[in-house]
Amino acid sequence: SFKSTLHHLSSDVSEKELLKIVNQLNADDSVDGFIVQLPLPNHIDDHKITLAISPNKDVDGFHPENVGKMTLGLPTFLPATPNGVMELLKRYNIPTEGKNTVVIGRSSIVGTPMSILMSRKTNPGNSTVTLAHSRTQNLEEICKKADILIVAIGIPEFVTSNMVKPNAVVIDVGIHRIEDASRKNGFRLIGDVNFSEVSSKCSYITPVPGGVGPMTIASLLMNTYIASSERN
Ligand code: NAD
Repeated sequence: SFKSTLHHLSSDVSEKELLKIVNQLNADDSVDGFIVQLPLPNHIDDHKITLAISPNKDVDGFHPENVGKMTLGLPTFLPATPNGVMELLKRYNIPTEGKNTVVIGRSSIVGTPMSILMSRKTNPGNSTVTLAHSRTQNLEEICKKADILIVAIGIPEFVTSNMVKPNAVVIDVGIHRIEDASRKNGFRLIGDVNFSEVSSKCSYITPVPGGVGPMTIASLLMNTYIASSERN
């Protein structure tokens, strides 16, 4: 079983105070792994915090040492969301070798590691990857060539059916909370892909909620399990 604790800090916490907590967690023998939820408030340097996390407790896989290992294909903690997507492709036996994969979004936590994992000599992987971002030209044309389209752009329902090749595999990483008075809690979740339009055109699509989100959590648990096994 897993034990978890949450340090809920105020948004005006100082960088020094946060570093102190990170160092305490690094030194705490009862902790196998931990993450610092990004993004951080503007007055705190994300990189400084990421660098302070001990690489062998960095279950998010964001420390440069772990990013380097991932890039070289060495065993390490793979970043949770991209690793969750790889696991989905594996479990659904989606062929990726030699396929055209287009990743939209180049963030350090999703798009960039996703593009690296899909291009490595692995299964899933071994695909020809295009990494599209905010300066990409002819995005629609590029997306239409994708056998596998992975969307991590952070814009609600950005991908519409005209951008999708028939029978493509579409992975929607985006999560947005939008107001919905018809729901008891007053909101619903949607992704970066217009699901109702795209789902009838593609062969597979991940729903929001329920697709990539739970896989991210499962990957974090898996990384924590690995961290614990390596220590004991
Ligand atoms: P981000 O804002 O850091 O990055 C977005 C990327 O999209 C940037 O690299 C940018 O270049 C690109 N982009 C922006 N506008 C564009 C445009 N018009 N055309 C092409 N590219 C454009 O976002 P992120 O942290 O990678 O997250 C992306 C989405 O995934 C968000 O909705 C976020 O909430 C969600 N997310 C979900 C999970 C999960 O577990 N499912 C995990 C992380 C992030």
